[in-house]
This record gives sequence, structure tokens and C-alpha cells, in this order.
Amino acid sequence: MQILCLKQLAALNKYFWKYRLRLGIGIVFIFLSNYFNVLSPQVTGFVIEFVQKSLNLPGYKSPEKAPEYDFLVQQFIERVDGIDSFSKVVAICGVTILLLALIRGFFLFLMRQTIIVMSRHIEYDQKNEIYDHYQKLDTAFYKQNSTGDLMNRITEDVSRIRMFTGPAIMYLANLIAIISLCVFFMWKRDHTLTMYVLAPLPILAIAIYYINNTINKKSEKIQEALSDLTTNAQESYSGIRVIKSFVQEKAMLGFFTKNSETYKKNALGLAKVEAIYFPSITLLIGISTLLTIMIGGLYYINGGHNIGINTIVEFVMYINMLTFPVSAIGLTASMIQRAAASQKRINEFLKTEPTIKNPEATTAIKLEGNIFFENVSFTYPHTGIKALQNFNLTIKKGEKIAIIGKTGSGKSTVGQLLLRMYDVTDGKIMLDGKDVKQFGLTNLREQISYVPQDVFLFSETVKNNIGFGLDADNSKNVERAATQASVEKEIAGFSNKYETMVGERGVTLSGGQKQRISIARALIKSPNLVIFDDCLSAVDARTENEIIGNLNQYLNDKTAIIITHRIFSLFNFDNIIVLDDGKIIEQGTHIELMNKKGHYAKLYTRQQEQDFKNEK
Ligand code: ADP
Ligand code: MG
Repeated sequence: MQILCLKQLAALNKYFWKYRLRLGIGIVFIFLSNYFNVLSPQVTGFVIEFVQKSLNLPGYKSPEKAPEYDFLVQQFIERVDGIDSFSKVVAICGVTILLLALIRGFFLFLMRQTIIVMSRHIEYDQKNEIYDHYQKLDTAFYKQNSTGDLMNRITEDVSRIRMFTGPAIMYLANLIAIISLCVFFMWKRDHTLTMYVLAPLPILAIAIYYINNTINKKSEKIQEALSDLTTNAQESYSGIRVIKSFVQEKAMLGFFTKNSETYKKNALGLAKVEAIYFPSITLLIGISTLLTIMIGGLYYINGGHNIGINTIVEFVMYINMLTFPVSAIGLTASMIQRAAASQKRINEFLKTEPTIKNPEATTAIKLEGNIFFENVSFTYPHTGIKALQNFNLTIKKGEKIAIIGKTGSGKSTVGQLLLRMYDVTDGKIMLDGKDVKQFGLTNLREQISYVPQDVFLFSETVKNNIGFGLDADNSKNVERAATQASVEKEIAGFSNKYETMVGERGVTLSGGQKQRISIARALIKSPNLVIFDDCLSAVDARTENEIIGNLNQYLNDKTAIIITHRIFSLFNFDNIIVLDDGKIIEQGTHIELMNKKGHYAKLYTRQQEQDFKNEK
């Protein structure tokens, strides 16, 4: 299973290839830093031997054959051997060991500069790839996936993968380099001693594997508990008004405390296992050290193995060098596992194809505004709700159409289909005699001004919210659009006028203000087709009249579809469509429909009475 999971990481190969130079050089640096690291035990060994020999210390036996050192160390020894002052040699050796540490540090710095920098580049590319894919996916995808989940892919999952492409690869390469270098030099010195010293390593590996698995399981539980806790907290903050007005603070606190308790229990469990981890590694490494000193000591006492005190010291130093990389095995393994799981989620998501596709060859087509719904039926894919049934409608260029009906009657769906947020289930939508599917998505949407029913404003300035999607500095146009949407007076009242921030860190706007800013955003585009989806619902009657008056002028030669649940008497609609349950039940001009004395007439009379009452 785990192996299967690791295959997912193959998706990263393209990035490794892209940054192959950095990766390659980084690995060379890792090797070099470790190489200079293993030279210091050898210099130490030499100086021990040298001191023993020079001072003719008791117990010193000159070796049968001189120990074989690395080429660089050999060169160093030849040079040093000529010096006759004893203390000078010792001092030079000390300085050399210091120098080796500095050189090693320098290469460690370069290693981080290459490998970690590479991982940051990969992270950046991957974020862009995911974001780019998000933009291609259609509304249906967003209805099915929670925002939290989508956010997680681009933040949490990507950063877990970065832990693999950066630190994990670094640790792994480091581990391989140090083990092979240490074993190489130990083996060269004495085979049997090397084997004794390395004997506890397999046990160590197995122990690490088991402890690590337990740690992983526990961390997953912690992650879940933490996620519950965060959701809990987040909902309490965003729903604080409801909580307070229903006096549910105590209940919420109880709920939070319970989640918090679970989290604490899991976290303490993990701490316990982690507490075992390092001591057990230290124990096993300690056993290796013990074996070296004991067996090496015996060899030294009994003679015959050509082992001196210097050999024992060198071996102990090698083992110490192995401690950190070996103890990082567990961490590295879990980093890789987590990255594989994250990459799996990302791979699945990248495979998701948008159902709404761009036509193959797209040349920009200019939209005039002749619309024809031909027997359109539409069922929402994941709920099976039939939103439109055998919907037929012809709209000529420049006409103003109103669509009215109860909530849920399918009004908004008409707009969604025109924008190709969804494709029709049956029938056809023709724009200027061409199927809507022949339009490139960008080409189509650019030419429609759409005001959605649920207003969305960015945490940005008022100006940028209105000028959204336009590149140039549009101050003039922004102000004109705001005037047309009858919101300019209110904006003028804000402390920073058009530069006022909206949303989280800025002013809190009323529902009506938001709607009008959203209308201004649509008006600034000035295309040939305008769709307003119930966007005056939160505006009072007087402002509504004002806006309608402005719109009358603005919409002059444009095709407009106005979806509403209130009837504007001022506005001269060419056609009013009454929708019910996805079907057109009446249509005609205001006068025609009033004469019919059907649904529309009833609705209109009721609304008039309501307005009259409100005015009183
Ligand atoms: P209206 O705008 O007239 O209130 P809609 O066009 O929004 O009506 O909705 C028509 C029907 O389709 C309703 O029954 C609604 O529940 C359903 N519906 C709307 N949007 C979706 C969606 N994204 N997924 C599933 N069903 C939907
Ligand atoms: Mg609607």
C-alpha cells in the first residue's frame, strides 16, 4: 500500500527535471559536506597516534602497518611529518580540525541554498498549477467541494510536498552520504570491528519503523482533532451574532472544551511516544559505542588486529556522526509518506476535467444580443432538481425582458445557462444564430454584464471592486458607474471615498450598498448583453426607482434580462416572463398581462397593495 502511495510522487519528476541542475549540485554539496566531516576523525586519529609516539606514552605499540587514511589526509600527514616541533604539529592538527568544520559548514550552507531553494521553486510552480486548474473548473465542481477542502490542497498539501522536495530529500541524501562514507572508512580500517559496530543498526531501523508508525497514526488523530477544533472556533466567530442572540455562549464553550479535551488527550499520547523515540535511538547508538570500545579495546590489549587507541577514537567519532542522520530516518519517512498522501489528493484533483469545455478552435465572436432558447430543459447534475423544463424564449437585440416568479422557479438558472456556468441538459441556446457552445468561455463571459443574486465583494477598495477585471486606471468610469448605480453619494460619505476598503478590514456595507456596488461593477463593462439577477432586492423603493431611471438610459440599445421578484412599473419591458416550477406560465407586456388578469395581474395588484401599506 505504501509503495503504491509512493508512486504518486512520480508526478513530481517533471519538477525535479526542471530543476535538475539545482538538485544535482545540491547533492554534490551534500556529499562534499559529509566528506569534510569524516576527515576530522582521521586527523584526530593521526594526532593521537603522533602524540603517543612522540611522548612514547606507556602502552604504545607502533602499528604493524601505518593506518591508511584518505588521500587528502595522507597529503596533510606527509607535510606535517617534516615539522620537528611537537607542539607545532599538535596545534596545526587542531586548526585543521577547526578548518574542516568550517569547510563543512560552508558546504552545508550551499546545500541549503540549492535544495531548499529548489523546493521553494517547486512549491511556487505547484501552487500556480493548482490555482490555474481551479480557475478552469466549473461551477458544478465548486458546488461539490467545500472551500476548506480546496484551500487545503493549495496550502496544506503543497507545503507537505515541499517538506519532501526540500528537507526530506536533503536528509535522505545526507543519510546515504554519511553512512556510505563512514562505513567505507571503517571497513578500510578493520572489517570485523566494523561489523560488530554496525550490528545494532538493523535493530535500530526496525525500532524506528515501528515507533514511527505509531507516531504517524497518533499525529493523524491529532490532525483530525485539530481540524474539528478549528472548524468549531471558526464557526463560533463567524456565527457570533447568532450565538449571542440565542444565548448559546455556554453551550458553545462546552462544545469547544470537549473538542479541546480530545485534542489534548491525543497530543499528550503523541508526546509520550515521542519521548521514547530519541532515548531508544540514543540507547542503540550507545550500544554501538560500547561495542567499539569493548571489542576494540580487547583487540588492542590482545594485539594482532593492528588496532590502536586512535582506531577506537576514530570509530567512536564515526558512530557519533551517524547519530543524527539515523535518528532523522523516522522523520524523513513520515515526511515522505505525508507528501505521497498529499500528492495523491492533488493528482486526483488535477485529473478532474471541467465539464464545461471550451470549443476547439475559438475565434472571438462579437455578441449582438439576439437570444433564442430552444426547448431548453435543465437538471442540476448532483441534486437531480429539474430547474427548467421545455423553456422557449426569443429575445431580440435591444429588448428588455423581465423574468419574474417565486423563489425556486428557475429564474437564476436562466442566467447561469446563458453564462455557460452549466450546459443545458436538453435543447439549445442560440446567440445570434450560433450555439452558445461555439463561443469561447472567455469570449462569451467578457461580453455579458452579469450581476449575481448573491453579491460578492472582495476585501479591496471600493474602486477596485467596481473596476474589477479592468486593467487601466478607470477612475472616471468607476465614478460614472457608481453614479449610474446610485451609490456615489454613499461612497462620497466614506472616509476614504473610492479608496475605502470593503469587507474584513474595511467598512461594513449594508446589503443594498453591496448590491449597488455590484451593479456598478457590471455597468462599467458596457457590453451588449446585461443580466441582472434579483439585484435590487435589498434596495428601498425610492433608490430602486432612481436606479431604474438611470438604467433606462444606460440600457438604451442593449439587450437586458432583468430577473426580479418585484415588478417595476416604471420600466418599459418588451416582454415579461412569468416562471413557475421551471415552466413559462405567462408572457407578454405589462398591459397584455394586466388584461389577462392571470398570475401576473394578481402579483402586481398584491405588490401595489403592499407598497401602499408600506408608504402609510
Ligand atoms: P430562482 O432563481 O427562481 O429562485 P433557481 O434558478 O435558483 O431559482 O433554482 C431553481 C431550482 O434549482 C430550485 O429548486 C433550486 O433549489 C435548484 N438549484 C438552484 N441552484 C442549484 C444548484 N447549484 N445545484 C442544485 N440545485 C440547484
Ligand atoms: Mg434566483
